[in-house]
Amino acid sequence: MKIKEIRHRAAPLQSSIRNAMIDFSQMTVSTVAIITDVLREGKPVIGYGFNSNGRYAPEGILADRIIPRLMAAKAEDLLTDEGDNFDPFKARQIMMKNEKPGGHGERSVAVGVIDMALWDLVAKIEGKPLYRVLGERFNGGRIDEKVAIYAAGGYYYPGQGLQQLKDEMKSYLDQGYTSVKMKIGGASLEEDRRRIEAVLEVVGRREDLAVDANGRFGLHEAIAYSEVIDEYGLRWFEEVGDPLDFLLNATISSVSQTPIATGENLFSMVDARNLLRYGGMNPNRDWLQFDPALSYGLVEFLQTLEMMKNYGWSPRRCIPHGGHQFALHIAAGLQLGGNESYPLVFQPYGGFGDTIAIENGLITPPQVPGIGFELKSELMKTFVTLGL
Ligand code: MG
Repeated sequence: MKIKEIRHRAAPLQSSIRNAMIDFSQMTVSTVAIITDVLREGKPVIGYGFNSNGRYAPEGILADRIIPRLMAAKAEDLLTDEGDNFDPFKARQIMMKNEKPGGHGERSVAVGVIDMALWDLVAKIEGKPLYRVLGERFNGGRIDEKVAIYAAGGYYYPGQGLQQLKDEMKSYLDQGYTSVKMKIGGASLEEDRRRIEAVLEVVGRREDLAVDANGRFGLHEAIAYSEVIDEYGLRWFEEVGDPLDFLLNATISSVSQTPIATGENLFSMVDARNLLRYGGMNPNRDWLQFDPALSYGLVEFLQTLEMMKNYGWSPRRCIPHGGHQFALHIAAGLQLGGNESYPLVFQPYGGFGDTIAIENGLITPPQVPGIGFELKSELMKTFVTLGL
């Protein structure tokens, strides 16, 4: 059993949307295919991966360091001790050879892309959906058959008015979502207040609307927004300030009546631990959003979950960023609190398969071996077009 080839391509994530910090018109993602000599129904088993939105394709790191190290390894060094499957934990050691700790940069994204493809392979070779493999291996056989998802949208579009924003949110409810998230901080406080009120007219329940500032605010602006958001009793206030400004986060957390959510831009267990140590986060109220595809993959994410438990946090307090199927399987197999979803944006990478229905805000993970990319026809077409 061995890896024959690892292909990788940068792909554009063409999108005219923006949040409070960036626009996505130049955003790219790395896509990979790990081609093996394992055959199923006469065809080679291939594991696919990509990084979720918000970080550019780390093509140089993949091409210069991560993939050459894997391809230079002895075949058996990438396998379980029994030699019956690939071993993402061993692969992680090899990918990170000669890399200093800290300063994760885009390296964690490159490793995360490969880690996703390796877990796709592992589950395909076991012949099971990934969430079942994860439940068996890491969660005492327990799984969630359904995962709570929410629709992330409400970006700032060029020329968009309140009616379009309301129409967008209505379309999510029509698709079966019950909970939505919108951007704030990309307009004046008064305009954002009007946007929040417009969305609440559509959504109804205040606890079904979360707002996301994408790390935009300094302390004074954060406090001003916090007071307004508290008036509405919303679900959470996300990424208030710079993701690494733990003092600011702790300060806002102490004055906010609204739950705080953050973590999508923390890329290692150690960074996540610093948030819990110094960020003032409340394990009975707040939400953690670490994205396994951006932060060294599932191997690291398992360490992060262990760390969370040691700091008194339930895995149910974790709702990963990214809106991808990898995190959906992790949420189901490790019984997290739910998963993000981008019904409208970041296609074809976001979303969960052509025929997978959302009912009452809940979704069942794909029931085919692996992560289930094969059930998403536009994504598979894109992989083919890219030459994966
Ligand atoms: Mg966010």
